[in-house]
Amino acid sequence: MKLSKRISAIGASATIAVARRAAQMKASGIDVISFGAGEPDFDTPQFIKDACKAALDAGDIKYVPRQGEALKKAIAAKLARENNLAVEPDQVVVTFGGKHALYDACQVLIDPGDKVLIPAPYWVSYPEMVKLAGGQPVFLNTEASDGFKITPAQLLKTAPGAKILILNSPCNPTGVTYSPDELKALAEAVLKTDLIVFSDEIYEKLVYGDTKFVSFASLEGPLPARTITFNGLAKTFSMPGWRLGWAAGPKDVIAAIRNLMSHETTDPVSFAQAGALAAYVDPRSAQTIETMRREFERRGRRMAQRLGAMPGVTCVQPTGAFYCFPDVSANYGRKLAGVEVSDSLGFAKAALEGANVALVPGAAFGNDKCVRLSFATGMEQIDKGLDRLEKLLRQATS
Ligand code: PMP
Repeated sequence: MKLSKRISAIGASATIAVARRAAQMKASGIDVISFGAGEPDFDTPQFIKDACKAALDAGDIKYVPRQGEALKKAIAAKLARENNLAVEPDQVVVTFGGKHALYDACQVLIDPGDKVLIPAPYWVSYPEMVKLAGGQPVFLNTEASDGFKITPAQLLKTAPGAKILILNSPCNPTGVTYSPDELKALAEAVLKTDLIVFSDEIYEKLVYGDTKFVSFASLEGPLPARTITFNGLAKTFSMPGWRLGWAAGPKDVIAAIRNLMSHETTDPVSFAQAGALAAYVDPRSAQTIETMRREFERRGRRMAQRLGAMPGVTCVQPTGAFYCFPDVSANYGRKLAGVEVSDSLGFAKAALEGANVALVPGAAFGNDKCVRLSFATGMEQIDKGLDRLEKLLRQATS
């Protein structure tokens, strides 16, 4: 069939070919170690599951009443308590995952031709969401040498004529978190422009070392009026398959998203929302999150340190999320597993074919010098996979 122009303009993900091949290899019995995961490898805490089951058993199977008032209140309370942000429950909308909230925000704010600033490397879906709304992504490139962070000067230079800036700290794929001072400097720059800011804070609880997380909108008085904060339960509470996320921001934008959702999806699953309510109000959450965070911290440290010691690899230590994003470009022009590698896709193919290690080419995230490895997998797997990768790189020929 002739597909719409809208969907035909969406790029096929460079990650799919590698992921498909890895799945094929696994299915044929090959022991592939996958560093591709974009989700925690922990189970959802039992008390959250119990709350969901209890709601289901109690007959909570109708369309969500009163727009999920209890959960919206709990999220507003969480924002006041943890993020220093004062919002009313009707400034919150609960969606089918953080992705859905971001997608709908693009739909309600972007007109054809509107420019959206996206720091690169970026999460794969941002540019496509912008394009699906008719907008034009404008990339602010960053390199490992500047810690993968945009500067206020870079922002001010590109801001004229742009409508939205998408910030993601901690960042997928770089694992980089802006410090409160760096974010404050960006906030001051933003206030000199007309930009609206999308602050994707889905990895807020996964920060390491002495890294401190702050919500962008909390940094300067006028920011809440022009910032939309995005978050979700997938990473923090290990609930990716539950498909629950949310956005908080100015009333008119949230109401517009609600309006769109009323014709699109209606509210997320009633009994899943009961689980989410428990996640935000139950005091056991803090300890469960901390246990998971500590384990990610341990793994991230080990992975970055081991990657950095490999020939032709430099790796920025992740300060958040669960990814390492090493620069492997010193290997380009060399032969890995007998095949000359010239880009991140070639490197990922060589790692898969030559070492049975699946990782994601950086090209998918707008940086062809790097590859992404997730440490949302057990320490034993991490060591085994990195042993293989190291061996492959030591055998590389020029
Ligand atoms: N933002 C970022 C940066 C992400 O990495 C993800 C998940 N990979 C999401 C948003 C969306 O997560 P979900 O839709 O599962 O809540």
